[in-house]
Amino acid sequence: MNPKILYVCSEVFPLLKTGGLADVSAGLPPALRALGADVRLLLPAFPGVVAGVTPEGPTLLVPAGGSPGLPSGLGPQATSAHGPTPWLRAGRITDSGVPVWLLHAPGLYERSGNPYLDASGQPWPDSAEQFAWLGWAAALLGTGLSAAWRPDVVHGHDWHTGLAFAYLRELARTAEHRPATVFTVHNLAYQGVFNASLRPRLGLPDSLFHLQGLEFHGHISFMKAGLKYSDAITTVSPTYAREITGPEQGCGLDGVLRQRQAQLHGILNGVDDAVWNPQTDPLVQPGFEAGHMEGKAQAKARLQQRLGLQPRPDALLFSVVSRLTEQKGLHLLPAVVDELVGRGGQLAVLGSGDAAIEQALRACAQRHPEQVALTVGYDEALAHSVIAGADVILLPSRFEPCGLTQLYGLRYGTLPLVRAVGGLADTVVDCSLENLADGSASGFVFRDLDVPGLTAAVKRAFALQRRPAEWLAVQQHAMALRFDWARAAAEYLSVYRAAMPAPARA
Ligand code: ADP
Repeated sequence: MNPKILYVCSEVFPLLKTGGLADVSAGLPPALRALGADVRLLLPAFPGVVAGVTPEGPTLLVPAGGSPGLPSGLGPQATSAHGPTPWLRAGRITDSGVPVWLLHAPGLYERSGNPYLDASGQPWPDSAEQFAWLGWAAALLGTGLSAAWRPDVVHGHDWHTGLAFAYLRELARTAEHRPATVFTVHNLAYQGVFNASLRPRLGLPDSLFHLQGLEFHGHISFMKAGLKYSDAITTVSPTYAREITGPEQGCGLDGVLRQRQAQLHGILNGVDDAVWNPQTDPLVQPGFEAGHMEGKAQAKARLQQRLGLQPRPDALLFSVVSRLTEQKGLHLLPAVVDELVGRGGQLAVLGSGDAAIEQALRACAQRHPEQVALTVGYDEALAHSVIAGADVILLPSRFEPCGLTQLYGLRYGTLPLVRAVGGLADTVVDCSLENLADGSASGFVFRDLDVPGLTAAVKRAFALQRRPAEWLAVQQHAMALRFDWARAAAEYLSVYRAAMPAPARA
């Protein structure tokens, strides 16, 4: 039997993207569909998402808790502030044809820009309400709101969907239909923690607000609801799955995760070949492949020109495409720049985030105007140009659940220089002598989150540059590696099947 999967998330590339989560929502559902699963997405009707969806099929009202047929008092109350009852509109993502439900709620989602933060970078004041409604709609669909399509599995992603699992737990007590539930952690550091005064508005019974429930140090944690009340938990790499059960990376929830270790799976993300393929990438033409690297040299020359860097083919060009945050370890980078430039290297940074990191990198660019370029902002096309044109992509992360840009770097022969954490440890093999000898090396890996650790790895990259034949061999090996969504989708299917009751699995 092909399972029906309700895939609940807050962003999807290319309609709305703040990070890797959107890439996963674009890559995984089609791969699951290719394996026979009947997947429908559920997303809030943010403007970018609405613009990329072609309506098709029914509209369903999303009744607030206490409506006939529902356990009284459950669900976010339909507050007067937000007017009429929210509704779900069926449709398909116009480009991919993936079926989707869009959750409309007057006043909650019709806003431009970042879906989570206002223009000053603060969380939207009604953030909890936005995602409580998303969880509530998921729970209703999960328990059969649409008689024509009842999911076997509700699969929610990150804290934005956490409350779905608490609502589902309660609704399932009386509902005829109870789906299996899977919760995926893309980044444990963002937890959706809100003031306890919100409790009455969520419509959940008081019996859930305790240490073994969704209470977190006197507050309400949406993430914890997902971790406590889902049948299975996944996260986006095997190493991160281990790391988050310990205090260092557990973000205060390691105890909860240890309790659920038997249901916790690490499934590595994939690369969407339709978007990130150096041969066919429309943003990088002419394309290139392992046996024909002329296109990569041209991409490098174009990038140097576009960013105002000296047009030197032999300059080892390091790059960053990232949120500029301490999570990404980029506070270390400014201290390494003089060494990097002194050895003849260049640096291209694309990103935005922490003002202090931005400022320190801007100072580096001013100090080395033709060798260091900083582009502050979010630019999909430039991201492709950088990943195609650079020689090395830097991810010196403090923690990294999976990381996607190192996977894109591998595919484009742009060797990742990474710290050995999370998904980076699972996907990049250091250019040590033994790994070079056995052909497994694919990048540069360092352990200690400090300037000497990063500097040593940068020096190793220069050392390998002096052996061009070996550099090319490592590049070719990296480009031949495949982290595809088909493999990840097969692993998710086995998690779904294990979570489903035995008759439904057959
Ligand atoms: P995270 O989700 O933690 O930010 P990931 O490596 O999982 O990190 O995913 C980041 C995604 O966002 C990648 O697709 C990357 O190319 C993209 N990205 C990050 N910063 C930028 C930027 N400034 N411009 C364009 N794309 C970016």
